[in-house]
Amino acid sequence: MKTYFAERGESLANNNGDGSRLSIRIFRILINICFVFTILCGIYGFVVSPHMGLFDQKAHLYDGDWVYEDEQGNQTVFKMPYDLKLQPGQKIIVKTTLPEDINDGDYICFSTGKDFRVLIDDEEIFSFEASTSKMPGKIVKAVYFPVRLCKDYAGRTLTLVKGEKGDSNGNMHACYIGGLLGVMREVADGRAIQFLGAILLSIASIVTAAVFLYISFNNRKVMPLIYLAQGVTIISLWIMFDSFVFQLMFDNYFVDGVLAYMLVMLMPIPFVYYFNNVQNYRHYKAYMCINIMAIANYAVLTVLHMAGIHSYEDMLVHINAFTILYIVIFFVVAVKDYFIDGNKEHVRVIIGFFGMCFMAIVEVCVVIVKTLTHLTFKVDGVFILIGLYILLFFAILDQIDSLNELKAATQEAMAATRAKSEFLANMSHEIRTPINAIMGMNEMILREAKQDKVLEYARDVDSASRNLLDIVNDILDFSKIESGMLEIIVEEYNLGELIYDVTNLVSIKARDKGLKLKILVNPEMPYMLRGDEKRIREIITNILNNAVKYTDRGSIELKVDGDVNDDRLTLMISVSDTGQGIREEDIDKIFAGFERVNIKKNKHIEGTGLGLTITKNIVEAMDGTIGVESEYGKGSTFSISIPQTIISDERIGDYKSHKRATKEEEISIDDVEAPEASVLVVDDHPINLKVLSMLLAKTRMNVTSATSGQEALERMKEQRYDIILLDHMMPEMDGIETVKAAREMDGNMCETTPIIALTANAIVGAKEFYLEAGFDGYLSKPVLPPVLIETLVEHLPADKVIIKA
Ligand code: ADP
Repeated sequence: MKTYFAERGESLANNNGDGSRLSIRIFRILINICFVFTILCGIYGFVVSPHMGLFDQKAHLYDGDWVYEDEQGNQTVFKMPYDLKLQPGQKIIVKTTLPEDINDGDYICFSTGKDFRVLIDDEEIFSFEASTSKMPGKIVKAVYFPVRLCKDYAGRTLTLVKGEKGDSNGNMHACYIGGLLGVMREVADGRAIQFLGAILLSIASIVTAAVFLYISFNNRKVMPLIYLAQGVTIISLWIMFDSFVFQLMFDNYFVDGVLAYMLVMLMPIPFVYYFNNVQNYRHYKAYMCINIMAIANYAVLTVLHMAGIHSYEDMLVHINAFTILYIVIFFVVAVKDYFIDGNKEHVRVIIGFFGMCFMAIVEVCVVIVKTLTHLTFKVDGVFILIGLYILLFFAILDQIDSLNELKAATQEAMAATRAKSEFLANMSHEIRTPINAIMGMNEMILREAKQDKVLEYARDVDSASRNLLDIVNDILDFSKIESGMLEIIVEEYNLGELIYDVTNLVSIKARDKGLKLKILVNPEMPYMLRGDEKRIREIITNILNNAVKYTDRGSIELKVDGDVNDDRLTLMISVSDTGQGIREEDIDKIFAGFERVNIKKNKHIEGTGLGLTITKNIVEAMDGTIGVESEYGKGSTFSISIPQTIISDERIGDYKSHKRATKEEEISIDDVEAPEASVLVVDDHPINLKVLSMLLAKTRMNVTSATSGQEALERMKEQRYDIILLDHMMPEMDGIETVKAAREMDGNMCETTPIIALTANAIVGAKEFYLEAGFDGYLSKPVLPPVLIETLVEHLPADKVIIKA
């Protein structure tokens, strides 16, 4: 609130000067006055306004003498509270003479449990028997019972009989006398702080657990504070149940007693989880001992209690001994971890824990002092509550610290992943540039060499470079997936064409290996669809290529089917092979990055282990699914389903009839000439320039080259070209800057000339990117001759292009 006003104030003051600064100050003073006035009114009302008189029925500790007579006739005279120090199970009869000033409606209130009877002279006026309880097991808890008196009882003998059922001890709790509300007030007084403190603490710990559960859910990481909050909730509930106020409020005698003991026994478990987590499982064994003891205690004692053999109360010493043992273990481990092993990363937890231990010691001291001095300070459980507040407070601070660290670490990791992806992207860009040169020059050799041997070498170079290009493309894709930049570009496409192209390429590889390729396409499927054609090609090609790679004999079957639902088609692709199959334990691994399986057998098969990872990611990015069924040694079936949008209901029929029209008329570079046309080629790499110039020279075009953006701009001032091929990545002025400068340049003779980007950045959505940057098209490196020629035919003036029949 303060910061908010300060910031707002300053910014307003900056805008409006001294006047607004003054008004903000006045406003702030007014708010403060309102708050102070409200608080003063509250205090005034509390002190001055008349009381309702509910508690006018006064009560006080009954300080009359009681007499206990044992079996030998020895008498003990005492005042309650008092411990007669009897053996458990002994019947107790104590008597007192009631005072003379009793009024009708006065009460005398005893704290007792199990069973008791109250008699005036020989007449019974009240009795209680705990065995009527519905809870299994022995009854344990003491409770306050107000017994109604009347004027007639004044001066008569009141007899209290306890333990007739053979189960009591000589502990005589404080006894009050007076009006009913007064008696209740006396009972509640002193325990009310404990009760209220416990309620507030349980609210605080439940809220803390809920908040950090939500944060854990968001961060997908469990925050250990949740365990601590659970532990604190258990203790606060126990303190609540243990206070007599609970009984007065809920009028329940049995549940609180049993539950309090159960909670005490379970109490250490959440703390074990918390400290184990915070201390990074360094003291796992010690903590597991606590857990085992706690659970064993809980199980054994609960069975004994429920079976009625021993009550929890009988076993209180045992429960307390174990609780103290747990605390000692927690303490020793904390001291060892922090002071001896020097693990100082959670100093706030240590402060909180030692703070709590200190308050627990204070509590114990208070109890001892109370017992020794018979003083009655009404602070039972208050110190332990303060200790728990301290622990919770410091643990929250620590958790917030850890959260901030986690946030910083996540950001760092994200930055590292980004850097890695950028590095991979840059690397693959850098590698594509020389591949461009190798493939281009090799293309020249393939065209011009006459010797068979040289041609054979060149074909090998071509195949190896294509392989290398595939690997670079895979790495680029993978880096995009890792940095979350995988884009799905949705366009209309012809599924028939896609199947034809993909199977055409794979069928050659299958044939070379002597494998049969069966293709089954449901003729009833619609074929004009909307989706990312390029990515679907990539998916089917990857799976089919793998089937060919990992199958030595037999056949491969591609099935394409679809499930139509309105305008949606679930495209179902399955590829089965009779290959080596995948072991069951390897199935999960094959979709993980850089994982290859069955390596011994596949030593000779090239691969990076990226194909299926990329495929899976692309499928999932399209909201599809991929799965595999495989039998080792027999074969595998990969099944993919991807939702697509249907553009038209026309059926696909025979997919082969969808052979791409342009394929039939595919123009070869040898079939095109443009001697009248002029082209400007701009690239900072001399080899790239040479490759392009040589390819273009085949068309007899007039080729001018430039090695920088600046030089290209000068050439554009000198002459009008029919087409410009401009490299994107160049030092000083890159392609995009050159296009921009060219479009704005005075005296540019190439204002209407189409400019085509040359790029080694095989980025998805490249077309849109370059069109937006002012280019008219783009060619990705390595520039393949058919693609180059297609681009030339598309952009050169028709009258300058001669297509040889
Ligand atoms: P790569 O083929 O480059 O090694 P992939 O990610 O495509 O990487 O495949 C991962 C692994 O899955 C392969 O190394 C191979 O062991 C196994 N695999 C993939 N497809 C098949 C298949 N059809 N039959 C048998 N094993 C396969």
